Amino acid sequence: MKNHIFLAIIICVATSTQVMGQFNKNVVIAHRGAWKEAGNPQNSIASLDAAITLGCHGSEFDVHLTKDNILVVNHDPEFYGLEIETSTYKELLKKEHPNGEKIPTAEAYLKEGMKQDKTKLIFEIKTAKAGKDQTLKLTKMSVDLVHKLGAQQWVEYICFDFDAGKYVHELDPNAQVAYLNGDKTPEEAKEAGYTGLDYHFSVYEKNPQWIKKAHHIGLSINAWTVNSPEVMKNLLDQHVEYITTNEPEMLFKLLAKRKKTEN
Ligand code: MG
Repeated sequence: MKNHIFLAIIICVATSTQVMGQFNKNVVIAHRGAWKEAGNPQNSIASLDAAITLGCHGSEFDVHLTKDNILVVNHDPEFYGLEIETSTYKELLKKEHPNGEKIPTAEAYLKEGMKQDKTKLIFEIKTAKAGKDQTLKLTKMSVDLVHKLGAQQWVEYICFDFDAGKYVHELDPNAQVAYLNGDKTPEEAKEAGYTGLDYHFSVYEKNPQWIKKAHHIGLSINAWTVNSPEVMKNLLDQHVEYITTNEPEMLFKLLAKRKKTEN
């Protein structure tokens, strides 16, 4: 009987561990997925899958809203010549990536990412050309979608619009959300409900106290878009949590080299 109870406990622990997700513990975030070395279109499902295969902690992607209120994944406000905000989803389907993929919906992208629990989905809420109201509408629809799919465990939000991140925090106080625009002190970002800074690496060079200050008040640090080994090394020496890069393979090699030197 005792053995049965023991076995049941083991099974429970094992199952709950699986449900909790064991995301890869490294600093690497693939910027728009893994596309450069892998030869995939940026922000395609193929680039997300490649980032997962590489073992990145996170894979970043950009989300816009179409004219008929569909959340879609693409970096630029245009998809092969069609402006996303003023096109319907059906119109956008006329174009495709060179690998034959159509523009992914945010829903399809999240569902693909949720097939695994090793790589986080770094969801950038893009600033809408049409203005603040549209950006906040996109923000609300994004958080609603993540909740509808039960994707909270996978998703961390990032945004350039300060009010968008504040709104994410209001809508979901448990959400991880980092600010991209580099014009707020760590204290200002924390006060607004942000859980991290995700600034261009030059911002940390200009404000050398910010990484320490942010860590002191419990904010995480990410930096974009870091493609040179010198800047990667410098940030690793400052114990940043994440580095967003177009060169995830290069960053993994550098991390392996540093580990070797440590041992
Ligand atoms: Mg982005």
